[in-house]
Amino acid sequence: MSMKTVLFAAGLAVLAGPALAQSYPDRPITMVVPFAAGGPTDTVARLVAQSMSQTLGQQVVIENVGGAGGTLGAGRVAKADPDGYTLLLHHIGQATSATLYRKLPYKTLEDFKAVGLVTDVPMTIVTRKDFPAKDLKELIAYVKANKDKVTLGNAGVGSASHLCGMLIQEAIQTQLVTAVYKGTGPAMNDLVGGQIDLMCDQTTNTTGQIKGGAIKAYAVTTPKRLPSMPDLPTTAEAGLPNLQVGIWHGIYAPKGTPDAAIQKLSEALQKALADENVIKRFAELGTLPEPKERATPAAHQQHVASEIARWKSVIEAAGVFAD
Ligand code: ASP
Repeated sequence: MSMKTVLFAAGLAVLAGPALAQSYPDRPITMVVPFAAGGPTDTVARLVAQSMSQTLGQQVVIENVGGAGGTLGAGRVAKADPDGYTLLLHHIGQATSATLYRKLPYKTLEDFKAVGLVTDVPMTIVTRKDFPAKDLKELIAYVKANKDKVTLGNAGVGSASHLCGMLIQEAIQTQLVTAVYKGTGPAMNDLVGGQIDLMCDQTTNTTGQIKGGAIKAYAVTTPKRLPSMPDLPTTAEAGLPNLQVGIWHGIYAPKGTPDAAIQKLSEALQKALADENVIKRFAELGTLPEPKERATPAAHQQHVASEIARWKSVIEAAGVFAD
């Protein structure tokens, strides 16, 4: 490359930032949800995407790519063109899968650019409505006595339901039979239908079914009770004091996405998290938007790194891995 070409290329790179910032986005953006439609991650994504679409002036369209505990969808985004038009909305599984999977088709910290954190959703321990236990203590006793019969639904290794199920099984020292789905939307249909017995899933999927009496709830995995379901005890109150977990969600773009696009996306996310409709719906579903300072690329990137480190030892101690 001649010196002239190098200087010309450098000039273009300098121009690319402001020029892109003005025109981006000029067509619809795809937001990949790495689980089935109708589930809790999908619900969060659709709410936020709708508000972000208004700010960005372009549709943010959800694409559900379920399978392999969220790693299929994440892999699809890691390999997408880094032009700001393909995003990922994923949860804590983005961090836990880095240890759970012996081989991942991407490098979690290097192949994505963080956009910002979205919300930290509580989990609930729920069963089919005719499950023979009136509280968590009875549930644990029943599960221990019937461990070959009780089926635990989850969305695959790396999913939040898998993680919470793993923590329950660890806490009660009992291995259960699992039924694996592409997301807990379809798993919930089977729980309501009585085809499976037990699940631990985000309130963004369980609240409506609990309130409607379609399933039974035993505990929420937060230190305090939820204003949306004040009668539901915490895991500590119900007898599993060490089972506390929140399912944080964040938005990512493939590495190489221009910083100007990431910045615009992060600002649109921050606006979505201050949107009255999003706040109201989140509250009804038992969750809260992340504060503005956590909905930034730097805070999110740091959070993913610290969460990978935090869960590594827990997962290694449990000895649960996937290929
Ligand atoms: N709740 C699911 C999980 O277990 C994911 C989903 O369907 O949104 O990770």
